[in-house]
Amino acid sequence: MKVPFAPPRMDQKVIDEVSDTLLSGWITTGPKTKRLEKELAQYCNVENVLALNSATAGLEIILRWFGVKEGDEVILPAYTYTATANVVIHCGAKPVFADIGDDFNMNAANLKSLITPRTKVIMPVDFGGLPCDYDAINNIVKSESVKSLFVPQNDIQQKLGRILVLSDAAHSFGAVYNNRKTGILTDITVFSFHAVKNLTTAEGGAVALNLPAPFSNQQVYDYLCIYTLHGQNKDALAKMQKGNWRYDVIEAGYKCNMTDIMASIGLVELSRYDETIAKRKTLTQKYHDEFKKFDWAILPPSETSTAETCYHLYALRIKNCTEVQRDAIMQKMFDKDIAVNMHFIPVPMLSFYKNLGYHIMDYPVAYQTYCSEISLPLFYNLTDEQQQFVIATLIESVTEVLKK
Ligand SMILES: *Cc1c(COP(=O)(O)O)cnc(C)c1O
Repeated sequence: MKVPFAPPRMDQKVIDEVSDTLLSGWITTGPKTKRLEKELAQYCNVENVLALNSATAGLEIILRWFGVKEGDEVILPAYTYTATANVVIHCGAKPVFADIGDDFNMNAANLKSLITPRTKVIMPVDFGGLPCDYDAINNIVKSESVKSLFVPQNDIQQKLGRILVLSDAAHSFGAVYNNRKTGILTDITVFSFHAVKNLTTAEGGAVALNLPAPFSNQQVYDYLCIYTLHGQNKDALAKMQKGNWRYDVIEAGYKCNMTDIMASIGLVELSRYDETIAKRKTLTQKYHDEFKKFDWAILPPSETSTAETCYHLYALRIKNCTEVQRDAIMQKMFDKDIAVNMHFIPVPMLSFYKNLGYHIMDYPVAYQTYCSEISLPLFYNLTDEQQQFVIATLIESVTEVLKK
């Protein structure tokens, strides 16, 4: 039996919606993208959401909008996908990595010691869909002692008057913290709709704006629409209106808009997203029930007193496992045609970052987590039979590898 890792849920409904767009005469950013933005905003209970072609673009655009540049520092967890760190490098700033706690998320307790007068942004990552401890993080950036360290270098930074909290919620669309969904938990939240994410548009992402007064989120949204489309003051659809051809460029903007083709996939995905989460929760519960019998199993956190994940990953950890043993377990799964995965190789272990002088031993929890983690197949159409096979094979593989 073959078990894939996380194929997207593509069916006739998606095909119909995409066909409708393809044949509508308008395939790039237009009515469907705008509808998706509105529905996303409603879902997260924020005023404005901007849809883009990736989460990576969203994170970078916001860093650039906030004026992050050479000499600045951005704090992010060592345990994330490289996109979170790469965008900091693109802006010429320095990534400052935080170690994680045993919930895979950035440890808010260490955060204060990493903040300097150069810190401009904190980018927490909601690993596997579980929201970070945002009360703790928001309280730190809003505390007088931390605010007094902040050195604003432009009007936007002056207006905020403190470190910006930009959450990388690539995994956590629909997750809940203190009874509120992600999107409204920090100043700005970025979602990913990449093909393997819970809600997909093939590639894609979105930026949820929740800036405090005196910011107008509508104004920031309007500006970002221009900034992500060459800095041009009219989009293609507006230019199409009869006689409305003349445009201006107010700055050298970027090009990372979402297309209506992508948005059509997203509209269908969003319309049944609660069902998606419910199914993923059931599958997660099944894994929990089977693995909790074994003392080698460290189950991924899915619910805490304040948060509930959106069940993006089933990130199992094997107690006291070495990197070599983990690789051996993964190989046994591959040998049985089960696609497992590993989230993540900590960023400081990757050549580019190692060469910049980062050292994984400075992030011991990230390293131990890396050595012991295996992500199991988790997707809407995973059958009972397939899941049983994954469970039995995993138990057998771990038992064999650990007894050597
Ligand atoms: C997938 C992912 C991203 C990047 O998302 P894209 O939409 O592919 O740009 C960023 N951060 C994390 C943690 C991710 O898993």
